[in-house]
Parts: sequence; structure tokens; C-alpha cells
Amino acid sequence: MRKLLFTPGPLTTSDTVKQAMLEDVGSRDHVFVQAVKDIRNGLLALAHVSKEDGYECVIVQGSGTFGVESVISSAVGKNDVLLILVNGAYGERIVKMANIHGIIHHVLRFDEDEIVTAAATDAFLQEHKEITHVACIHSETTTGLFNPITAIGHVCKTLNKVFIVDAMSSFGGVEMDMKAMQIDYLVSSSNKCIEGVPGFSFALCKSAELNKCKGQARSLSLDLYDQWYGLETNGQFRFTPPTLSILAFRQAMRELEEEGGIAAREARYKTNKKVLDEGMAALGYIQYLQPEIQGHIITSFLYPADPSFNFADFYNQLNDRGFVIYPGKLSKTDAFRIGNIGQIYPDDVKALLEAIKELSAK
Ligand SMILES: *Cc1c(COP(=O)(O)O)cnc(C)c1O
Repeated sequence: MRKLLFTPGPLTTSDTVKQAMLEDVGSRDHVFVQAVKDIRNGLLALAHVSKEDGYECVIVQGSGTFGVESVISSAVGKNDVLLILVNGAYGERIVKMANIHGIIHHVLRFDEDEIVTAAATDAFLQEHKEITHVACIHSETTTGLFNPITAIGHVCKTLNKVFIVDAMSSFGGVEMDMKAMQIDYLVSSSNKCIEGVPGFSFALCKSAELNKCKGQARSLSLDLYDQWYGLETNGQFRFTPPTLSILAFRQAMRELEEEGGIAAREARYKTNKKVLDEGMAALGYIQYLQPEIQGHIITSFLYPADPSFNFADFYNQLNDRGFVIYPGKLSKTDAFRIGNIGQIYPDDVKALLEAIKELSAK
């Protein structure tokens, strides 16, 4: 049975993206080397920057976390101080990275149902002048909220801090201009809104900052500068590349362009979200977040008040009908999540809602 994934990744992908992986390719084959080059330039263009503007794209093997860890452990030097803005599990993940790598850091925490504010960030930075780098999540997939990256970026630039953004679950599904948003490092991965298959993450980096990473990585395989240097000098990855997922991703990028680019994809995801919101509200489901801070990538719904509700049964019964949803990740509240991203269209959301209605009536 063909299943539809209403998750934050891996996502439902098109048949043509999967078909792009049907032929083996050597890592030194010119077809592969050209695909890597096209992807690196294409990703910069999606963020409205280019090499000529002073930006570079580094592809890192592994899932999204590998890319974030590569940036965090390479960009923050041993005498630098990192501020981590946290309002969910993905922010907490960066705190773990900082601890493991022995990075000097501060954590500014907000509740999971609140956004990070530029004002609180500004006040904290004024109090702690030793901070050199700031890390924040754009779309906090834990809940689905969007942090105000442009406003936080403005504070960082005014105070001359390096700004690192985990835009994992939003890049490709939300228009982002890296320069206008004053982001120095933007990280996302192959299996989120560009709609490729899992296999790698990518960091879009301001070249002037990337150059400072030379020799300061805390890990061999996650050395951001060395990885870039390899890709730049001979077009090769230092270690075995995710060949097939690169080929799938290049096809996914073509399909993003055919759809009409990020603006068109964002519009489709927003329509999915609207259909989902209206349908779930009609069935009596309540959302965890206030609508003003909710993004259009993924939504957290509270468990229904009915004490007989059992999430595992609910999940399995939807799964049997071909719909894969996602458990919650909130620290204090029981909720489940439904994503709108990937090859999902409004009619698919309506079909999911029909299935939920059937189950809810039982
Ligand atoms: C998906 C995601 C990641 C990366 O998770 P992986 O499981 O390593 O792919 C990081 N941050 C956010 C906000 C995400 O949504």
C-alpha cells in the first residue's frame, strides 16, 4: 500500500524523485560531480544568495542533526561563547552538542508554547558581552511554531554576533532571504521541504565566517571547513557520499522549480494547513499553540478529552488506512502532530480527515 507521510520528515516523495535513484553512480563520475555542483549552487539561489555575494554551500553526509553539529562544533572556536535560544527539543539538542563538545555556552529558555523574542535576546546579549555566536531554531518542529528569525537576526547584527539558524523543517517551504535575515549559517537537510530522500544535510554559510572555521573543528567527520575545502577543490566528498540521495535531491530541486519555486510550495503547504485546521476543528480537536505563532509546517493537536483515547491505537489504525502521523514531543502535554509538507495535496489532507472522522466516531 502506498502510504502518505504526514510527518516532519522523511516525507512523502514523488515517484520521479525515487526513480532518480535507480542507477548506480560512482562518486567520481562526472554526472555525480556535476549534480553536487548544481545542488550547491541551486541551494544558495533558493536562499537568494550566491558565491559571488560571499556565500558557500557545504553538504554534510548524514541526517539534519549532523549538519547542525558540524556547524556548531566547527564555527564556535574554543575561546568563543555560544548563546542557544531554546523553546523546544531541537534547541535542547544544540545544548547537548555544546556540552559534548565542551563549547562555552549560555542557554536562554522560553516555554514550549512561546516564541523566542528579539527583546529578550537583546537584553541577554547586553548582559553577557562575552557571547560571540547565537543559535536559534526557525520552525521548532517540537510544536510547529515559527521563531521571529528576522528580528533576532537584526539584534545579532546590531551587536555583531554570528547568527546560526536551524531552518531544517522550514527551508524550501518558507521564503527565506539569508542576507536580508542576516543569517551567517543556515542549516537544513535533504528530506524536508525540498522533498528529497534522507541522506545528507547542508549548511549555507557566509564565506567570511566559514574561513574562520579552518582548523578549529572538534571532530574529523564533521569538520565543516575541510568538508567545504574538499567539495571546492576537486568536487569530491572526503568520505563516501550519499550518491543516490544526491541524484534524488537534484530531481527534487527540478520539481520544486516546476512547481513554481518556494513561493508556490509555501502556498500549497498553507492550503494543506488550512484544510487540516478547519477539518480538525470540525472534529473537535484542539491545537496546542495559539494561531499567531503557529507555522504552516506541522501542527500539534492535544489528545481528545475522551479517556478511552489511546494514541498507539489511533496511530496504528490510521497507518492501516495508509496515513502516517507523528507522535508528540512536548515535555508536559500529551499531543500528536500532523505535518503538511512533502508530496501532500489538499485532497490527501481531506482523505486523512475522513479517516480521522471514522476513527473518532467509533
Ligand atoms: C528534522 C529536524 C532536525 C534534524 O533531525 P534529523 O533527525 O537529524 O534529521 C533538526 N532540527 C529541526 C528543527 C528539525 O525539524
